[in-house]
Amino acid sequence: MTMAAHDASARWRTFLEEAKESEVMTLLSRQTNFPYLSIPFHEIQTFDPQFAEDVLEHPKQILSAGSKTLMEICRERGEEIDALLRVGELPGDSRMPLREIGSSDIDKLRSVDVIVTKISEIKPRIHRAVFKCESCGHDIEIDQENERELKEPLNCPQALGGCGSTKVETRFDLVLLSSRMVNNQWIEIQEQPEYVPSGAQPRRGMVLIEGDQVNSHLPGERITANVIPVVRSEVRNRKKTPMFDVIFHLISSEHESTPFTEISIDEEDRRRILEISNREDLMPLIQQSIAPSIFSTGIIGLVKRSLALQLFGGVSRRLKDNTRSRGDIHILLMGDPGVAKSQLLTFISNLSPRGRFATGGGTSGAGLTAAAVRDAFGDGRFALEAGVLPLSDRGLAAIDEFDKISTDDTRMMHPAMEQQKVHVAKGGITATLNSRCAILAAANPKEGRFTKRHKNTSVMRAYEETGLAPALASRFDIIWMMRDEVRIHDDERIARHILDNRTTGKSETLMENSIELGPSDNEEGLYIVKPENGRAEHLSQDFLRKYIAFAKRTVHPQLDQDAKNAILKYYTEERQSFGREDEGRNNNEFGDKESIIPITARALEALIRLTEAHARMHLQDTATLENAKVALAVFKHWREESGIEDESEVFSGVSPRARVSKTAIMNMIRDICSEKGEAKLAEIYNTALPKITENEVDRVLAQMLKDGILYEHTTDTYRFP
Ligand code: ADP
Ligand code: MG
Repeated sequence: MTMAAHDASARWRTFLEEAKESEVMTLLSRQTNFPYLSIPFHEIQTFDPQFAEDVLEHPKQILSAGSKTLMEICRERGEEIDALLRVGELPGDSRMPLREIGSSDIDKLRSVDVIVTKISEIKPRIHRAVFKCESCGHDIEIDQENERELKEPLNCPQALGGCGSTKVETRFDLVLLSSRMVNNQWIEIQEQPEYVPSGAQPRRGMVLIEGDQVNSHLPGERITANVIPVVRSEVRNRKKTPMFDVIFHLISSEHESTPFTEISIDEEDRRRILEISNREDLMPLIQQSIAPSIFSTGIIGLVKRSLALQLFGGVSRRLKDNTRSRGDIHILLMGDPGVAKSQLLTFISNLSPRGRFATGGGTSGAGLTAAAVRDAFGDGRFALEAGVLPLSDRGLAAIDEFDKISTDDTRMMHPAMEQQKVHVAKGGITATLNSRCAILAAANPKEGRFTKRHKNTSVMRAYEETGLAPALASRFDIIWMMRDEVRIHDDERIARHILDNRTTGKSETLMENSIELGPSDNEEGLYIVKPENGRAEHLSQDFLRKYIAFAKRTVHPQLDQDAKNAILKYYTEERQSFGREDEGRNNNEFGDKESIIPITARALEALIRLTEAHARMHLQDTATLENAKVALAVFKHWREESGIEDESEVFSGVSPRARVSKTAIMNMIRDICSEKGEAKLAEIYNTALPKITENEVDRVLAQMLKDGILYEHTTDTYRFP
């Protein structure tokens, strides 16, 4: 041990009294719930570089000396405070990847950039135990540093006024009331995927947290954890073994303040981004950069365009009433097998900053949202594990086979997609996790392919074919129906394209033997790729990722008046045109024609997001009419292509017939009421039969009562207010 570690207390005292006087005063005034003092590392460094070095080398002794000194200072000023000292914001050279932490880092102070994947329940543990000697009644205090076993006195210390009896001669009773307890919690951390070498599994680690930092981390959060790696012997069948586990003690942590710091953008990148952003053909250029090996036949070009917009996303806003509107754009690709859905998902999840790929059916463990698991940390407690969406927070989740997600997940998907929060209350843990990510989902029809082959298959049918709940489907801003249509002309072109691609790609085996450079190696350093085969140029994946991260980090566009007007115009026109048709249809009481409200307020939000995304792509702070036009075009396309005539109907789950019936039933009840002053239930049923079932009548009645159009005067007798 160095000198500094020996005289740590003296150094802390000087430091605290000279540099931290006001913070100590705050502690003394007991204004905080948790009495701790946090010290940025650089302050110690400025104060005494050698001492700072020693903090990193001998953190256990020095930090506990620091806390003791802090308590002493408080005591000298007349306050008994169980104060704690935390050092944070460690210097760059103590930062290292989790996977590189090894035996030379044990008991040192290190910092790791990680994502929290699990948290356990909280348990109290004794950190200073008080024992009473049965012979003489003397109280003995013992610090409990180890969370795994209770350290008992060996004898009753005479020096401190005890009787000197040993463990054999007397008994030491734990006095819980006088002992000091501290809360603790386990969290599991994982390397941030961006830093994991390709092909490797991210390293995980178990972190023990105590005191005020308990419950300050949520699964899915990215943090810089300042930890001391410590070894514990493995326990098998209640016996210690010579094998050791490394666990981490958390000293302090910093939550991410700027997103996407994992993507570094240097001056040169910045210059190129600004240059590219001015290009006339920016939209087509980025569109072509999306999965260049997938041929843009049929609607795939448009699908790619929408995916490009999704990558940039709209602006999430906190509204005046403290509600939040999401900026992330959710897209669903629904379609026949073999139309490159999975390929697109894979590409986008690789391209997007913080992208993740998951399969709806195959996600194990926490699934898409979250799960409570017992004994994840080997001590019997419940733990909360984040699923794919919370782990993709501030990124993108690509979910294949979305139609196969579990019922548990389906239930939690609604708030996860709209409010972008996952609420969990399971096994003694309640938490709300953030799931602020864009969702790109793919689903197959239930029967394997769409049964109706023509374009105008009603969406209603298509949904029935996928078995996707309307409420869930309505959370998507865009739903593409991708049909594997036979088009002689295109078919040959796709086939040629696939043949070209599959035969010119680099052999993986050769790449592994590094005889030839892989395609991404070829792209490295390049920002614009110009294929030799005469196909359109596109941005390299690496550069596009930087571009997106840069835009998302720095550009937050707002719609100008013209953009708003354009969206409003489309919206009102759509509604009105269908409204007029609707009037005509109402005369026809039980006609097969549908009563239609074509577009919902959700669509309005989707249009805003798409407009913002297009502006963001162009690094504009204001979204203009031009941006709105592109957004409208993409939006109209998906609705047309999908044959959506009546979105609201599909999404409310009410059949056209039921909708017509509703008006009919209401009119019927109105008629009876105005004739007789009131309507008896039996009479309504009789009038309705046989065209309308009692069930349908009940539903409409309930709605009318709820809306206050009707009230129940006496049992089963209804009147107008
Ligand atoms: P899905 O998930 O829709 O069933 P996949 O993504 O698995 O389809 O694609 C099936 C195969 O067909 C892939 O190898 C894909 O590259 C190829 N393919 C389908 N459509 C195209 C296209 N338009 N351009 C290039 N390849 C295509
Ligand atoms: Mg697939």
